[in-house]
Amino acid sequence: MLAKRIQSKVESLLGVSDFRWKHLPNGVYVLNLHRIGDVASSKLDPNVYSCSAEKLQQHLTYLKQYFDIISLSELIDLVSNTSRADGKYLVVTFDDGYRDNFELAYPILKSLKIPAVFFIATGLIENAELPWWDKVAYLIQRSHIKKIKLPYWKETVELTGNRQIFVRLILNQIKQSTSPICQQITDIENFVGKPTAYPNSEFMTWEHIRELSANGMDIGAHSHSHDILAKLDDEQMLFELSHSKSILEEKLGKKVRAFSYPVGSKNTYNDSVIEALINNGYEIAFNFHPGVNVNLSKNRYDLCRFTIEYMMDDTALKKMLTYAKRI
Ligand SMILES: [Zn+2]
Repeated sequence: MLAKRIQSKVESLLGVSDFRWKHLPNGVYVLNLHRIGDVASSKLDPNVYSCSAEKLQQHLTYLKQYFDIISLSELIDLVSNTSRADGKYLVVTFDDGYRDNFELAYPILKSLKIPAVFFIATGLIENAELPWWDKVAYLIQRSHIKKIKLPYWKETVELTGNRQIFVRLILNQIKQSTSPICQQITDIENFVGKPTAYPNSEFMTWEHIRELSANGMDIGAHSHSHDILAKLDDEQMLFELSHSKSILEEKLGKKVRAFSYPVGSKNTYNDSVIEALINNGYEIAFNFHPGVNVNLSKNRYDLCRFTIEYMMDDTALKKMLTYAKRI
């Protein structure tokens, strides 16, 4: 066991051998992406950029050679009919519904004939106001502060490397704090200076989402307000699940079958959220943890996803998929 672990560690440091890559274990490998484009040109949260359009094309072209890339309904069929995955499947998912998904990712997916699932937080669509993470990033990036601590945060956040990491650490403090997010934003505004106006949000319109849905892409729900579900009371939590589903179904004229948990780490959802998903007719749900999904029926409301990071090259991508936990 130890020898195997050491061998695996040595191999992971060297890269991925061809043999290992070509003999990946059977399972459903789900990719999770957010924004596509040039991070340097954005005034909003740099941490939600997954890759440039060129890199997306490169990653997908490469993975297509090794995986059976399946749609959401094929995945639901697989999960409903098999307890363990019997092949190497890949599912491509995008969270939040940023406009670049339509403008940059969709043409690439179309040209490669790859289906994808877009998880939409319905309250963000055709709403000009920035979501909280983009607001915080905008405030911090235009300020010159090098240190910040709100009274109810556990730690002081200091600028040590680049500003993107500074923003990420601040967002982490906000997520960990039990204070309402709107209060935390007001406190940050008071600390760095409130802008006369924020830029407009950068999400898709309903027209964009309808076009994706009409052309072979699947649409799932990602709550209405993008709040952390485990922090809400039962009534608010139920509203987030049912309202987003009914808006999407009304706008698209199709049944919405899948959900992705906002933020998606283990402490952001729980058994009552899963029970509410089942009661609301959702058939499958995705978290934000890396892992190869092997036990499908057991984990159908807790499917793992691999995050594509901005600086990831093919070697890093292969390493991530090869040395992941099997769940
Ligand atoms: Zn999200």
